[in-house]
Amino acid sequence: MRLIPIYESGMKALTIVPGKANSAAVLEVPEPPESDGAVLVRALELGICGTDFELISAQYGWPPPGSDHLILGHESLGRVEEAPEGSGFQKGDLIVGIVRRPDPVPCVACAVGEWDMCRNGKYTERGIKERTGFGSERWRTEPQFALCLDSTLADVGVLMEPSTILAKAWDHITRIGERAKWKPRTVLVTGAGPIGLLGAMMGKQRGLDVHVLDVIKDGPKPQLVHDLGGTYHTCQVKELNFAPDVIIECTGVADVIAQAMSKLGNDGILCLAGVSSHNQLENLDIGTINRKMVLANSVIFGTVNANRRHYEMAEEALLKADRKWLKRLISRREPLSNWQQALQRRHDDIKVVIQFSAD
Ligand code: BGC
Repeated sequence: MRLIPIYESGMKALTIVPGKANSAAVLEVPEPPESDGAVLVRALELGICGTDFELISAQYGWPPPGSDHLILGHESLGRVEEAPEGSGFQKGDLIVGIVRRPDPVPCVACAVGEWDMCRNGKYTERGIKERTGFGSERWRTEPQFALCLDSTLADVGVLMEPSTILAKAWDHITRIGERAKWKPRTVLVTGAGPIGLLGAMMGKQRGLDVHVLDVIKDGPKPQLVHDLGGTYHTCQVKELNFAPDVIIECTGVADVIAQAMSKLGNDGILCLAGVSSHNQLENLDIGTINRKMVLANSVIFGTVNANRRHYEMAEEALLKADRKWLKRLISRREPLSNWQQALQRRHDDIKVVIQFSAD
């Protein structure tokens, strides 16, 4: 009998067929091809997020060219197994993969490494758009599209990718704010999911008075906000008795967005960070909104994805944060064999993580 070395026997991966609802399955797939990059990684953990649910319900997502299947996963954490000399990585390093790749043209933004601002939409994204994700027992990456993570972050490193989204949001809020003399005092975050809570944490790190609003009244969210030194609200945005300098909108719910637009303080900035579902019609008085925005110098902007600089900022934010608080954002860790449970949404869940291997 011939013993098959593990590296020749294929590996397990969490896959979907984009465009086909509820096609998620764990399948045996070939080892990651060297064309994916010179750094070979053993997956430790994979975070599941709202985008993954959209992919699973066939509202979003594209397979790599020539394939029906897409390996899911963009919130990665792994250990380097093999890395060429001079790549900046060594066997055993803690590693996080970057999600987006620049478009091949490249556009002016991608040409300078700002692929998060891609102008022509021809970018690709691991586990989302035309590129294999990180949801397999082993994956490969190009060294320049990965970050060697501080070794002390092993227990919360899976929160890196969602943190990069907020690092970018805050980076852009700050740049927009600096259009004039700016000294923000209050931030309102709508939606106390992982994105909202990480945004609130970064608001606190910037010395702001942090308010988080959500419909959930019980479970871990109110306490997490309280322990951060913030105020938790379950009322409507319009019922708040202050006008925030900054609002980070993470629900994607049209009614919340409409209320947030009218609630901004003078010189206020509303950052839209939640992807909405379609067909949420609102009856809006654009005349009044425009009048208010012009007379108050308001800014409303959207933000998506993150570039390498934001990964570095996110790592810094995680290193500065209270580790015990951060750990509480991870509600459940499910082994890959329990992937179906990992994909169930439970009332008290904040971040659910699939564990691919023990560290
Ligand atoms: C990911 C981003 C990605 C976006 C749109 C989000 O869930 O975190 O990296 O750009 O989805 O595909």
